[in-house]
Amino acid sequence: MNTLELSGIGGDTICAVSTPQGSGGIAVIRVSGPQALDIVQHRWQGKPLVGMASHTVHLGNLVDTAGGMLDQAVLTVFRAPNSFTGEDVVELACHGSTWIQQQVIQTLIDAGCRHASAGEFTRRAFANGRMDLSQAEAVADVIEAQSRAAHHVAMNQMRGRYSDELNDLREKLLHFTALIELELDFSEEDVTFADRSEVSALATEIHDLISRLAYSYHEGNAIRNGMPVAIVGQTNAGKSTLLNALLGDDRALVSNVHGTTRDTIEDTVVMGGTLFRFIDTAGIRQSGDVVEQMGIARSWRALDKANVVLWVVDVTSADTSMAHDILTHCDGKALIVILNKTDLDDDFAARSELSDILPEGIPVVAISAKRDTDIEALRDLIVKTAALPEADSDTIIVTNARHYQALTHARDAIARAIAGLDSGLSGDLLDQDIRECLHWLGEITGEITTDNILGEIFAHFCIGK
Ligand code: GDP
Repeated sequence: MNTLELSGIGGDTICAVSTPQGSGGIAVIRVSGPQALDIVQHRWQGKPLVGMASHTVHLGNLVDTAGGMLDQAVLTVFRAPNSFTGEDVVELACHGSTWIQQQVIQTLIDAGCRHASAGEFTRRAFANGRMDLSQAEAVADVIEAQSRAAHHVAMNQMRGRYSDELNDLREKLLHFTALIELELDFSEEDVTFADRSEVSALATEIHDLISRLAYSYHEGNAIRNGMPVAIVGQTNAGKSTLLNALLGDDRALVSNVHGTTRDTIEDTVVMGGTLFRFIDTAGIRQSGDVVEQMGIARSWRALDKANVVLWVVDVTSADTSMAHDILTHCDGKALIVILNKTDLDDDFAARSELSDILPEGIPVVAISAKRDTDIEALRDLIVKTAALPEADSDTIIVTNARHYQALTHARDAIARAIAGLDSGLSGDLLDQDIRECLHWLGEITGEITTDNILGEIFAHFCIGK
């Protein structure tokens, strides 16, 4: 268990408003720490808090330092260790005027509380062993989730499914170390592993599990921050009109002047339970204009970063001269070719021209962005093409860049151990790699962290979390 001292947290009692800033129907003020019940008692008119059982709710009055009535409130008691933070916690639900909130906080501070810093409730929960670090980080992700998929992944992580998987890996690594140490213990008697192939199989299994987790970050990042979809094509093909149609909003400037979109425009929308981040790019064409050239360079960069590319072709001009460049940049990405402005030309000369150029299997859809024709079918196709795992699947997906980095290091360490096994490296050298692998997994769960890392993580939380 992580101790309070370890994380630099004192044993004082903290308070903060846990509901969003501003006024609302009700506001919840959280008080946590060894003096929580005593301090609130000083400001509470109602049933005495001393004998209250954990997880009980009571109606009473909150009063200020001078005993003046502040509000009628509902109080919930959670006794240590069965609370969010693992400490005694009192939650006060009062009327949500900003004035009442400020006054209640002020009067609690006067009675001996300290105002909580960002993420301090969750940090205490971590320090008291109520959750590991990956679960604590998931609390922030659950609060910030913008789509069903992001919510599902964060929930899985918060409820400890990811931690369970990491603990399984840890057990396997410890078993591995035990086998190696057995060899070390008997090294003087010239004993080698009972069965080096068994150890090798275990190392490969660990490597594959870590690799799968690390690889899942590509999806995880898209789920959490939005699947990047670049809209590319010649100037005037209708890219901005398409962005607006997909967003159902007049977000991008639409004009028939070539080269209007000189920078990339981004916006997000949830489709099929997944957050998509659409990036409208400057039209790609040969241009002598320096500013436009810079915009075009950005278009290529946006395209390179996207998971899905929508290539918009104007059916009336059917100019496919940039096809080669676009296809080269789309290697390894999901590409959808969109024939736009079908309201002006239903003959689609572009379609046959494209079929000569496009590799097999690339979907081609005909739409009119301006008339909203077949936009819904395009949305469905984008969701299908993005091929994210089902939102209710139980596969563990890594969404956090810090975890991804640690997993990459852990994977490198176990890969070195496998190479060492193959080349008959001695047990003590293998042991170092395994310990390094364990170290990186421990960084994810918070078994091994510095105060700096913890400070960095919790500083991104809001006050009251
Ligand atoms: P971009 O340069 O590729 O972003 O193109 P815009 O979205 O700015 O559109 C260029 C011109 O084509 C504008 O005048 C649009 O109104 C027009 N346009 C876009 N989509 C369609 C469409 O489906 N049908 C018709 N008739 N015009 C369209």
